[in-house]
Amino acid sequence: MTNRVTTVEAIPVSVPTETPYETSLSVTTGGQGPHDHVLVRVVTDTGVVGLGEVAPLATWPHGLTRTAVVDLIQEKIAPLVENEPIHRIRNFVDRAERALSGEPFPLYGVDMALHDALGKIRNLPVYDLLGGAPDNDPSIDLHYSIGIKTPDKVRKEVRDAREAGYTAFKVKVGGPDFDAEQETIATIAESIPDARIRIDANQGWSVAEAVNRVRALDEVADGLTLIEQPVPFDDIEGLKRVRQATDVPVLADESCFSPADAATLARQGVCDIINIKLAKTGGLVRACDVAVVADAHGLPCFMGSMLELGVGAAANAHFAATSPAIIYPTGILNIHAVNSLIEERGRWTPDGDTFTVPDTPGLGVTLNEDALNRYRVD
Ligand SMILES: [Mg+2]
Repeated sequence: MTNRVTTVEAIPVSVPTETPYETSLSVTTGGQGPHDHVLVRVVTDTGVVGLGEVAPLATWPHGLTRTAVVDLIQEKIAPLVENEPIHRIRNFVDRAERALSGEPFPLYGVDMALHDALGKIRNLPVYDLLGGAPDNDPSIDLHYSIGIKTPDKVRKEVRDAREAGYTAFKVKVGGPDFDAEQETIATIAESIPDARIRIDANQGWSVAEAVNRVRALDEVADGLTLIEQPVPFDDIEGLKRVRQATDVPVLADESCFSPADAATLARQGVCDIINIKLAKTGGLVRACDVAVVADAHGLPCFMGSMLELGVGAAANAHFAATSPAIIYPTGILNIHAVNSLIEERGRWTPDGDTFTVPDTPGLGVTLNEDALNRYRVD
């Protein structure tokens, strides 16, 4: 009984979208399609099963396709972890990063599945496996997310959000209709006087556009909380210029993947906040590293997602619950697909603007095999 990994399985799925969450990236590339994700299942020689998930999204920097992720897991990553003791996750991540030249997307689902299995073996929820929640309180604050949509739909969403007690909002901007985006921000600000409003342009603006539009939206919002990724991911100088020209804190998302990225952005004074996503860091091991590097440079963090289904959302929540660097409300538990593929959907559905992560060993999710059979593609 050594708890070695015996198999690593990559399962491609396609789950239709129920509530589209359009961004400046998706509206310019045909709209949000189905959730073409990859589930990862590792099994140990003692019969313990660990689950992970990858949301590939090829329009993203390093995003890849679902097929590419499946191939890389099967051909490059599985051989690195099979027959290895399951607890050597950091050692595995070092080797996988070299094997994939730092490509994080195929890695994060396997890192996630290893943590799930190890948590079950040690009888600890993943947030405890990672060191525990601050003040022993594994709860996370949630915001209400509003994608790019028509003003009619925005008004209805803002009513729903107000009734549910939300005061923190994340709004997607950078689309083709800036007037509508201004109206969205005005609707929130007028309906919810104590609203904290943040915007995410997903690289949709030039520096000049960003400076003008951030100033305009800051005025309409009576003070934006932050602006996320206003300019393209590789325009580091542009990000810095937006930061210098406006009073709104700048959050780096597509521009910041690794611990080295976080250090570089901090040293160059490019941003005020770092967005951590397991997809960008390559999983939980490096997510901890990015949080430490950001914190050492005085930068707080935000926990983001790639719209993962139930398995990935649970992993995101465990990390958000354990990391003291993450101080902003998050939308990681929003599921936009018709099915999250897990049995525990009710337990993982937030009721209001805070959520307590379950203390079940591992991630606290099991696959719904009927749903998996319905949505898997081979
Ligand atoms: Mg973002």
